Amino acid sequence: MIHIILPVGLLQCNCSIFGDEQSGEAIVIDPGDEIERITAELERHQLKVKAIVITHAHIDHVAGAHKLRALTGAPVYMNERDRELLNALDMQAQWLGVDTPQRTEVDATATSGTVLRLGSAQFHVLLTPGHTQGSLSLWIPQENKLVAGDTLFRDSIGRTDLPGGDSRQIIKSIKTQLLTLSDEVVVIPGHGPNTTIGREKERNPFLRGL
Ligand SMILES: [Zn+2]
Repeated sequence: MIHIILPVGLLQCNCSIFGDEQSGEAIVIDPGDEIERITAELERHQLKVKAIVITHAHIDHVAGAHKLRALTGAPVYMNERDRELLNALDMQAQWLGVDTPQRTEVDATATSGTVLRLGSAQFHVLLTPGHTQGSLSLWIPQENKLVAGDTLFRDSIGRTDLPGGDSRQIIKSIKTQLLTLSDEVVVIPGHGPNTTIGREKERNPFLRGL
């Protein structure tokens, strides 16, 4: 499996491109910006996008989805509990002081139990609300990887002081959905370096005593 992590845009959101060499298909997670760089990687590996997944509707994760969808025809998956945030892209753009991007259509809802397939790998959607109400993570057992959006970071967790944030809820999500995975699972956060579940269990100051 090809896996490319591209930090894109002003806030360096980690966009993940997963590609299956056999079928030539790809899943792109959080195309927040710099769609030219993303499509260049897709072309370089001769990959056709079969699905675009948005971990949550913050502007730095979703702003490029409209463009990537238009270029590839791939359906966009997002949890419907973030619909309100998606509708407030203009407000989010104002917070950051950037132009309002075109809002993507959402073709399918992604929620607990949703499974996307790429080659022989399964991408299991885990609903992990707290950073936003519709925040989700993707668990890929065949790759031993978790794409965590802005729920879990190396040494930190997602902020909960923005609209839709809930500090108790994010801790509950992490405890019940993420820390239950095995210690060796590699975590790809929405920003910054990778980590593992075991490392965060041991060292993450926000998870002490869980
Ligand atoms: Zn966010």
